[in-house]
Amino acid sequence: MIPTDGYSEVRETMVRHQIESRGIQDQRVLAAMRKVPRHEFVPVSKQREAYEDRPLEIGSGQTISQPYIVAKMTELLALTPDSRVLEVGTGSGYQAAVLAELASEVVSVERFEELAGVAQARLEALEYGNVTVVVGDGTLGCRERAPYDGILVTAAAPQLPEALRSQLAIGGRLVCPVGSRDLQQLKIVVRKGEAEFDEHESIRCMFVPLMGREGWSG
Ligand code: SAM
Repeated sequence: MIPTDGYSEVRETMVRHQIESRGIQDQRVLAAMRKVPRHEFVPVSKQREAYEDRPLEIGSGQTISQPYIVAKMTELLALTPDSRVLEVGTGSGYQAAVLAELASEVVSVERFEELAGVAQARLEALEYGNVTVVVGDGTLGCRERAPYDGILVTAAAPQLPEALRSQLAIGGRLVCPVGSRDLQQLKIVVRKGEAEFDEHESIRCMFVPLMGREGWSG
């Protein structure tokens, strides 16, 4: 059910004008974007800007991504209700909530303990019981819960982290922005067999850097 709150109309406008109009067609993704209350995932002082066509600062020098890129990356994962998903870069928890609408289980890794704690509390308050937030270096994935049907990296990697590739289930898809610190392109990897991977590229994008052992070092 789509919640009615003070932002229902502006959320519907966001979906029509920023997401459908740019070619997102997956009805499950559109329904999730219509449902998740994005204003609950930003600082109170920024709630009125939550549905604008841009990222917003959330503290610790990090951002909640632009609504369109959240929808685009989610569509590229091609999730089913049975999917198990790993997200790298919890940030506000918004993308994790969108994934939780579409999959059976979401594990989300965040390197900043404070962001992780706030996101987990928000997700619990909104009754997303199928999301677990883990503090750590997400470039290493979360081996204890692997394999995953979908892996989504929401920060900019210098190259595809090998640990993430190895934690994909056969048939699973990894979506990751790869490139320089200033500009990246979405890479999609599909695991076809034990050692067989298909790779292709999608749109250009700009994310904050993915730090860590298989990310940027400083
Ligand atoms: N998905 C988030 C949301 O919905 O709000 C937005 C993610 S923000 C663009 C990128 C996040 O990746 C930041 O919170 C940053 O701290 C996190 N990050 C960067 N490198 C990381 C790493 N190695 N492991 C886990 N999180 C990382």
